[in-house]
This record gives sequence, structure tokens and C-alpha cells, in this order.
Amino acid sequence: MKPTHIEHIGIAVTNLDEAIKYYEGILGLKCYAVEEVKDQKVKTAFFMVGQTKIELLESTDPEGPIGKFLEKRGEGIHHIAFAVNDIESKLAGLQEKGIKLIDTTPRKGAEGLDIAFLHPKSTFGVLTEICENKKK
Ligand code: ZN
Repeated sequence: MKPTHIEHIGIAVTNLDEAIKYYEGILGLKCYAVEEVKDQKVKTAFFMVGQTKIELLESTDPEGPIGKFLEKRGEGIHHIAFAVNDIESKLAGLQEKGIKLIDTTPRKGAEGLDIAFLHPKSTFGVLTEICENKKK
């Protein structure tokens, strides 16, 4: 599949404002965007570290994916996202290789990226996202 880099690491938090204070005040990173992704029932906050982002995820609905994750596992790393070129063909290739996909076709994620998730059963327990920025 050859990802070009780690696009972001998604971290589930119970309180976005408190988490932002830590990332800004202690780590010294700058939150450059806060965005609600209604489709995913999350509010996100972004920090740039080199060419990789930290994506904090706060649930807006206990029944949403992050709400359920927080209830089951608590705060922590939720997923890792690899940047790829030509996401459609990458998804087709993964499917051919027998990798279980959560999204067989890309959908819109935060920051307007095209994203798709691979099932953790096929990725050694790590919820894996692949994404492509088609605007650049
Ligand atoms: Zn993500």
C-alpha cells in the first residue's frame, strides 16, 4: 500500500477543552482547528507535529463511535491514519488481499479528507484509517 506518511493519530478524550490545555500548555503545540464532524458524532481538535497531526476526538453522542470507545476502553489512542495516494485503488487492493474493511468506499472526514477505515481484526488490533487529501 505504501503510505506516504502518518497523516494523524486519533486520540479519544472525554473533555476536549481540558485536553487542548494539556497539548498547548504542557506540550507547547498550537491547536489550529476545532471542527465538529456530525457524521462521526465527534468534535475534533488538531495540532501539527512535523507533517503529522494529533487529532483529539471528543464524543458528541454516547451512541457514536467515540462515545462507545470511551465507555469500553476509556481515553487513549483510538486510531492511526496513513496518508495514501489514490485511496480508491488502495481500498480495492486491500480488499483483494482479504483485509476486512469498515469502509469499502471513501467518505468525507475532518478537514475535507477522503477517509476509509480498516477493521482492527485485520490490522493486529489497531483501528487503521487511510486518507487522501485531494485538495492539495
Ligand atoms: Zn482520523
